Amino acid sequence: MAKSTKNNTLKLKFDTLKYAPAPESKSSAKINAQYDLFINGKFEKPLSKKYFDTINPATEEKLSSVAEANTADVDKAVKAARNAYNNVWSKMPAKERGKYIFRIARMIQERAREFSVIETLDGGKPIRESRDIDIPLAANHFFYYAGWADKLAYAFPNRQPKSLGVAGQIIPWNFPLLMAAWKIAPALATGNTVVLKPAETTPLTALKLAEIIQESDLPPGVVNIITGAGATGAAIVNHSDINKIAFTGSTEVGKIIQRAVAGTNKKITLELGGKAANIIFEDAAIDAAVEGIINGIYFNQGHVCCAGSRLFVQESVYKIVMQKLKDRIATLIVGDPMDKNTDVGAINSKQQLETIHKYINIGKKEGLDIFESSCVLPEKGFFCKPTLFTNVAQSSRIAQEEIFGPVLAIQTFRTDDEVIEKANNTAYGLSAGVWTDKGSKVFNLTSKLRAGVIWANTYNKFDPTSPFGGYKESGFGREGGLHGLSAYLNVQ
Ligand code: ADP
Repeated sequence: MAKSTKNNTLKLKFDTLKYAPAPESKSSAKINAQYDLFINGKFEKPLSKKYFDTINPATEEKLSSVAEANTADVDKAVKAARNAYNNVWSKMPAKERGKYIFRIARMIQERAREFSVIETLDGGKPIRESRDIDIPLAANHFFYYAGWADKLAYAFPNRQPKSLGVAGQIIPWNFPLLMAAWKIAPALATGNTVVLKPAETTPLTALKLAEIIQESDLPPGVVNIITGAGATGAAIVNHSDINKIAFTGSTEVGKIIQRAVAGTNKKITLELGGKAANIIFEDAAIDAAVEGIINGIYFNQGHVCCAGSRLFVQESVYKIVMQKLKDRIATLIVGDPMDKNTDVGAINSKQQLETIHKYINIGKKEGLDIFESSCVLPEKGFFCKPTLFTNVAQSSRIAQEEIFGPVLAIQTFRTDDEVIEKANNTAYGLSAGVWTDKGSKVFNLTSKLRAGVIWANTYNKFDPTSPFGGYKESGFGREGGLHGLSAYLNVQ
């Protein structure tokens, strides 16, 4: 093909990718100017008398002001949860408990659009993702665990499972409603009561959930949702009348929490950071694998503990994979998260954007080769171009430390043993991905990779029935499936 014709064809190809804006309407989202603490079935003013702002990271506009719970507020919430546990919830027939959980699941489904819009406004993730992943999965978790409520004796035959009491639950900002569902649904199904704290940058969908819980007539105090930052989380962790701490967040805070509960009777599960290896063998379906890489690190802006942030490509297909990857990055639409065409939305906070920039600079200073999308970023809001580094060493900090942003570290390998060793050379062990045509290779790698979740020829797929959790500095304990039930039970 003559050069000019080829260029014209390419130009035409990229022009057709310029979609007209398709913004989701905000009209379904009712956000109050101010939110109080949800304690004992009511929204109560904080004893601290303090509030903080939650903003839209895509526009930097204030969305609402939210109560900041202090130690006295936490104590009030724990007392409400204890009272509800002793007098109502632990005495209620399991079948009745299940009905409430089913009701909450249905109400989330009914208000799915509102939840999706608020999730995207408060957190910055593309509306397509909130709508198609976060909210349906959150409802599914409630449905799934509702079904188990009156079947615990079948889940643990001959073992007399018993609830623990009051669970303190602390969640991060990357999947706000979904993480609330992962925590609350199994706790309720197993007969526990809850004090939950969402992350300070994304409190709104948890507070919407509190409204649903109120409407569902769940007995007061069974679920309490309180807002605040690290100090509020610490007050929950250190409260003497809590029986179980469930935490999802950074490894750094996970270690603080583990130290705080050492020597107490509190049960604990920690779901922490990750540095997942996505591994492409030469016999893989390359186009599908490239899409899996994109999904693993660029969708949701890399704000996923199990993000495929390290890519290992077999040397023989390195060139073709890199070409396809760069071509695909060129087509990623970065910008307004409320636009249904957007692939990569806003970074959750200014602080997180600074962390990501810090790591990109570290990569540059280490002398790695950088490639980034040529997209133009919006002027306002917190955005980051999809970025990748090649020529990466095992010792490179961007290959070892969690960045939690759209930044990929790429390495090559020749043999199975070599890639297993390289992939396992990390402090983390949350997840991994393997792309190959050979079932035998899948089985070989999945049995040798030290990761809690391993996907084969797909990535970032979640289901309420599948346990999720890590090894090493990625934490311990499992959420989801039957394993998720046992984390909230004493099983003799
Ligand atoms: P990230 O780095 O992903 O923001 P963090 O671990 O800092 O994750 O935050 C996850 C959750 O832990 C948030 O709800 C946050 O408010 C809470 N948190 C932060 N510091 C502490 C602490 N010292 N004790 C308990 N919870 C905390």
